Amino acid sequence: MTDPSPPADRAGNEPGASSPAMPSLSSLYQQLILEHYRNPRNRGELPEADADVRMNNPSCGDAVRLQLRFEGDRIVATRFSGEGCSISQASTSMMTQVVQGKSVAEVQQLIERVKAMMRGDEAAARDRALGDLRALAGVHRFPVRVRCALLGWNALEEALRQARG
Ligand code: ZN
Repeated sequence: MTDPSPPADRAGNEPGASSPAMPSLSSLYQQLILEHYRNPRNRGELPEADADVRMNNPSCGDAVRLQLRFEGDRIVATRFSGEGCSISQASTSMMTQVVQGKSVAEVQQLIERVKAMMRGDEAAARDRALGDLRALAGVHRFPVRVRCALLGWNALEEALRQARG
């Protein structure tokens, strides 16, 4: 390793948007991650939530609050808020999209798929059920960032437990 090069991006300095916060994923995937980071889906507060979970990732300083509302066995509304790196926030934003309208059993399958993808499982990374989340497949090569990518999913697991009482 040579000396670190001088910071090239002093102008922007948007949290999470510049390296080293972003591992070297393909640029198409980076675009998608940053797009979710800048325009998070389902961000806000959910009145009368059936589950309300806060979770932190101390290794990176990420935090999310996840709220779910159920009708019977299905997730009918999801909201999140939080702060942290682009991967943690984008992954949570993507997650709120894919769980919408899904049953608990379907959501549990998704959770397992995402965890498999984060272990480097290539079949999981090609699963179309994961939608935009496939952009995060390359994160498995950066173990520290896997915790960022899974933060919202760990909150989701906890929310499912909470909702079942
Ligand atoms: Zn992070």
